[in-house]
Amino acid sequence: MSLALRRQLIAACRHMNASGLNQGTAGNLSVRWRNGVLLTPTGMDYASLEPADIVFLDRHGQPQGRRLPSSEWRLHHDILARRPEVGAVVHNHAPFATALACLRRDIPAFHYMVAVAGGDSIRCAGYATFGSQELSDLALAALADRKACLLANHGMLALGESLAAAMKLAVEVEALAAQYCRALAVGNPVLLSAPDMQRVQQQFKGYGHQPPLPRRRARARPAAISSRRRSR
Ligand code: 13P
Ligand code: ZN
Repeated sequence: MSLALRRQLIAACRHMNASGLNQGTAGNLSVRWRNGVLLTPTGMDYASLEPADIVFLDRHGQPQGRRLPSSEWRLHHDILARRPEVGAVVHNHAPFATALACLRRDIPAFHYMVAVAGGDSIRCAGYATFGSQELSDLALAALADRKACLLANHGMLALGESLAAAMKLAVEVEALAAQYCRALAVGNPVLLSAPDMQRVQQQFKGYGHQPPLPRRRARARPAAISSRRRSR
Protein backbone atom coordinates (compact mmCIF):
# COMPACT_ATOMS: atom_id res chain seq x y z
CA MET A 1 0.00 0.00 0.00
CA SER A 2 1.41 3.37 -0.97
CA LEU A 3 -0.51 5.41 1.65
CA ALA A 4 2.45 5.67 4.03
CA LEU A 5 4.76 6.85 1.21
CA ARG A 6 2.17 9.36 -0.02
CA ARG A 7 1.95 10.77 3.52
CA GLN A 8 5.75 10.92 3.75
CA LEU A 9 5.91 12.88 0.48
CA ILE A 10 3.35 15.42 1.70
CA ALA A 11 5.11 15.81 5.07
CA ALA A 12 8.43 16.34 3.26
CA CYS A 13 6.93 19.04 0.97
CA ARG A 14 5.50 20.89 3.95
CA HIS A 15 8.76 20.62 5.88
CA MET A 16 10.67 21.89 2.80
CA ASN A 17 8.60 25.08 2.75
CA ALA A 18 8.35 25.55 6.53
CA SER A 19 12.15 25.31 6.86
CA GLY A 20 12.73 28.04 4.26
CA LEU A 21 14.27 25.66 1.73
CA ASN A 22 11.50 26.41 -0.77
CA GLN A 23 8.48 28.64 -1.22
CA GLY A 24 4.97 28.51 -2.63
CA THR A 25 4.23 25.79 -5.17
CA ALA A 26 7.81 25.75 -6.49
CA GLY A 27 9.65 22.44 -6.37
CA ASN A 28 8.47 18.84 -6.64
CA LEU A 29 9.29 15.56 -4.92
CA SER A 30 9.19 11.93 -6.01
CA VAL A 31 9.83 8.53 -4.51
CA ARG A 32 10.22 5.20 -6.26
CA TRP A 33 7.31 2.83 -5.71
CA ARG A 34 6.91 -0.61 -7.25
CA ASN A 35 7.59 -0.29 -10.99
CA GLY A 36 7.06 3.46 -11.10
CA VAL A 37 7.19 6.64 -9.08
CA LEU A 38 4.95 8.58 -6.69
CA LEU A 39 5.15 12.29 -7.56
CA THR A 40 3.68 15.58 -6.33
CA PRO A 41 0.91 17.13 -8.46
CA THR A 42 1.50 20.31 -10.47
CA GLY A 43 0.87 23.75 -9.02
CA MET A 44 -0.87 22.69 -5.80
CA ASP A 45 -0.39 24.36 -2.45
CA TYR A 46 1.50 21.81 -0.31
CA ALA A 47 -0.66 22.68 2.72
CA SER A 48 -3.77 21.46 0.89
CA LEU A 49 -2.36 18.13 -0.35
CA GLU A 50 -4.09 14.88 0.52
CA PRO A 51 -2.65 11.41 -0.14
CA ALA A 52 -4.98 10.95 -3.14
CA ASP A 53 -3.47 14.09 -4.78
CA ILE A 54 -0.12 12.33 -5.18
CA VAL A 55 0.25 11.01 -8.75
CA PHE A 56 1.60 7.58 -9.64
CA LEU A 57 3.64 7.46 -12.86
CA ASP A 58 4.19 4.00 -14.28
CA ARG A 59 7.49 2.96 -15.85
CA HIS A 60 6.39 4.42 -19.19
CA GLY A 61 5.70 7.78 -17.55
CA GLN A 62 1.91 7.32 -17.76
CA PRO A 63 0.15 9.14 -14.88
CA GLN A 64 -2.54 7.55 -12.71
CA GLY A 65 -4.67 9.45 -10.22
CA ARG A 66 -7.06 12.37 -9.91
CA ARG A 67 -4.42 15.11 -10.38
CA LEU A 68 -2.05 16.16 -13.14
CA PRO A 69 1.58 15.33 -12.31
CA SER A 70 4.29 17.92 -11.67
CA SER A 71 5.36 19.74 -14.82
CA GLU A 72 8.83 18.24 -14.11
CA TRP A 73 7.57 14.64 -14.36
CA ARG A 74 10.07 13.89 -17.16
CA LEU A 75 12.94 14.89 -14.91
CA HIS A 76 11.78 12.60 -12.08
CA HIS A 77 10.89 9.76 -14.43
CA ASP A 78 14.19 9.96 -16.34
CA ILE A 79 16.38 10.17 -13.21
CA LEU A 80 14.69 7.20 -11.54
CA ALA A 81 14.85 5.20 -14.80
CA ARG A 82 18.54 5.93 -15.44
CA ARG A 83 19.86 5.83 -11.87
CA PRO A 84 18.83 2.52 -10.27
CA GLU A 85 20.59 3.38 -6.98
CA VAL A 86 18.33 6.42 -6.51
CA GLY A 87 15.05 6.00 -4.59
CA ALA A 88 13.90 9.62 -4.31
CA VAL A 89 14.32 13.00 -6.04
CA VAL A 90 13.94 16.43 -4.44
CA HIS A 91 13.68 19.55 -6.59
CA ASN A 92 13.34 23.00 -5.03
CA HIS A 93 14.08 26.68 -5.55
CA ALA A 94 16.20 27.12 -2.40
CA PRO A 95 17.35 30.78 -2.09
CA PHE A 96 21.16 30.48 -2.15
CA ALA A 97 21.34 27.51 -4.52
CA THR A 98 19.05 29.42 -6.88
CA ALA A 99 21.15 32.60 -6.57
CA LEU A 100 24.24 30.65 -7.72
CA ALA A 101 22.17 28.92 -10.43
CA CYS A 102 21.20 32.40 -11.73
CA LEU A 103 24.93 33.18 -12.04
CA ARG A 104 25.27 29.78 -13.79
CA ARG A 105 28.10 28.90 -11.43
CA ASP A 106 29.11 25.43 -10.32
CA ILE A 107 29.87 25.07 -6.60
CA PRO A 108 33.58 24.14 -6.62
CA ALA A 109 35.61 22.44 -3.86
CA PHE A 110 35.67 25.62 -1.71
CA HIS A 111 34.68 23.48 1.31
CA TYR A 112 35.30 19.79 1.90
CA MET A 113 31.54 19.14 2.38
CA VAL A 114 31.05 19.57 -1.39
CA ALA A 115 32.03 15.87 -1.47
CA VAL A 116 28.59 14.92 -0.01
CA ALA A 117 27.19 15.31 -3.51
CA GLY A 118 29.63 12.67 -4.78
CA GLY A 119 32.58 14.58 -6.27
CA ASP A 120 34.79 17.69 -6.37
CA SER A 121 32.01 20.05 -7.42
CA ILE A 122 28.26 20.48 -7.63
CA ARG A 123 27.64 21.29 -11.28
CA CYS A 124 25.18 23.78 -12.64
CA ALA A 125 23.17 22.30 -15.54
CA GLY A 126 22.60 24.45 -18.62
CA TYR A 127 19.38 26.39 -18.99
CA ALA A 128 16.18 25.02 -20.51
CA THR A 129 12.49 25.85 -19.95
CA PHE A 130 10.96 24.28 -16.86
CA GLY A 131 9.10 21.07 -17.56
CA SER A 132 10.93 20.42 -20.86
CA GLN A 133 12.64 17.24 -22.01
CA GLU A 134 15.71 19.39 -22.69
CA LEU A 135 15.88 20.36 -19.00
CA SER A 136 15.71 16.69 -18.01
CA ASP A 137 18.54 15.84 -20.45
CA LEU A 138 20.72 18.71 -19.20
CA ALA A 139 20.09 17.78 -15.56
CA LEU A 140 21.02 14.14 -16.13
CA ALA A 141 24.30 15.23 -17.74
CA ALA A 142 25.11 17.54 -14.79
CA LEU A 143 24.28 14.69 -12.39
CA ALA A 144 26.86 12.30 -13.90
CA ASP A 145 28.72 10.73 -10.90
CA ARG A 146 26.85 13.13 -8.62
CA LYS A 147 23.82 13.15 -6.34
CA ALA A 148 23.00 16.85 -6.70
CA CYS A 149 23.18 19.68 -9.21
CA LEU A 150 21.99 23.23 -9.75
CA LEU A 151 19.63 24.11 -12.60
CA ALA A 152 20.56 27.35 -14.39
CA ASN A 153 18.21 30.28 -13.60
CA HIS A 154 15.96 27.87 -11.77
CA GLY A 155 16.92 25.89 -8.62
CA MET A 156 18.48 22.62 -7.47
CA LEU A 157 18.08 18.86 -7.57
CA ALA A 158 19.09 16.38 -4.86
CA LEU A 159 18.92 12.58 -5.10
CA GLY A 160 18.97 9.93 -2.40
CA GLU A 161 18.33 6.28 -1.68
CA SER A 162 15.30 7.42 0.33
CA LEU A 163 13.24 10.56 0.62
CA ALA A 164 14.93 11.36 3.94
CA ALA A 165 18.38 11.01 2.33
CA ALA A 166 17.46 13.18 -0.67
CA MET A 167 16.02 15.89 1.61
CA LYS A 168 19.08 15.76 3.87
CA LEU A 169 21.31 16.30 0.83
CA ALA A 170 19.12 19.20 -0.37
CA VAL A 171 19.66 20.87 3.01
CA GLU A 172 23.45 20.33 2.72
CA VAL A 173 23.55 21.76 -0.82
CA GLU A 174 21.67 24.86 0.30
CA ALA A 175 24.02 25.30 3.28
CA LEU A 176 27.03 25.00 0.95
CA ALA A 177 25.49 27.45 -1.52
CA ALA A 178 24.93 29.95 1.31
CA GLN A 179 28.52 29.56 2.55
CA TYR A 180 29.91 29.90 -0.99
CA CYS A 181 27.85 33.07 -1.67
CA ARG A 182 29.15 34.61 1.57
CA ALA A 183 32.75 33.65 0.84
CA LEU A 184 32.45 35.11 -2.68
CA ALA A 185 31.06 38.33 -1.24
CA VAL A 186 34.24 38.83 0.81
CA GLY A 187 36.92 37.58 -1.55
CA ASN A 188 38.21 34.69 -3.61
CA PRO A 189 37.63 31.38 -1.80
CA VAL A 190 40.68 29.09 -1.84
CA LEU A 191 39.79 25.79 -3.52
CA LEU A 192 40.82 22.37 -2.24
CA SER A 193 42.97 20.23 -4.53
CA ALA A 194 41.90 16.92 -6.12
CA PRO A 195 44.08 14.92 -3.63
CA ASP A 196 42.52 16.90 -0.73
CA MET A 197 39.07 15.91 -1.96
CA GLN A 198 40.11 12.27 -2.47
CA ARG A 199 41.14 12.14 1.18
CA VAL A 200 37.76 13.60 2.15
CA GLN A 201 35.98 10.85 0.19
CA GLN A 202 38.08 8.28 2.10
CA GLN A 203 37.22 9.89 5.44
CA PHE A 204 33.53 9.91 4.54
CA LYS A 205 33.54 6.10 4.22
CA GLY A 206 33.91 5.71 7.98
CA TYR A 207 32.28 8.97 9.07
CA GLY A 208 29.38 8.73 11.52
CA HIS A 209 29.53 4.96 11.95
CA GLN A 210 28.85 4.69 15.67
CA PRO A 211 29.59 1.32 17.32
CA PRO A 212 26.44 -0.55 18.46
CA LEU A 213 25.54 -0.03 22.13
CA PRO A 214 25.94 -3.11 24.40
CA ARG A 215 22.60 -4.93 24.75
CA ARG A 216 20.91 -4.53 28.15
CA ARG A 217 20.17 -7.80 29.97
CA ALA A 218 16.46 -8.49 30.55
CA ARG A 219 15.44 -7.99 34.19
CA ALA A 220 14.57 -11.20 36.15
CA ARG A 221 10.92 -11.49 37.20
CA PRO A 222 10.30 -11.00 40.95
CA ALA A 223 10.01 -14.47 42.55
CA ALA A 224 6.87 -13.63 44.65
CA ILE A 225 4.73 -12.75 41.58
CA SER A 226 5.75 -15.83 39.60
CA SER A 227 5.00 -18.20 42.55
CA ARG A 228 1.56 -16.59 43.12
CA ARG A 229 0.71 -17.03 39.41
CA ARG A 230 1.74 -20.65 39.56
CA SER A 231 -0.52 -21.35 42.59
CA ARG A 232 -3.68 -20.07 40.76
P1 13P B 1 5.17 21.95 -10.52
O1 13P B 1 4.20 22.68 -9.61
O2 13P B 1 4.54 21.63 -11.85
O3 13P B 1 5.77 20.76 -9.84
O4 13P B 1 6.33 22.97 -10.89
C1 13P B 1 7.12 23.60 -9.95
C2 13P B 1 8.52 23.75 -10.43
O5 13P B 1 9.40 23.95 -9.61
C3 13P B 1 8.83 23.67 -11.87
O6 13P B 1 10.20 23.57 -12.07
ZN1 ZN C 1 11.39 24.26 -10.42
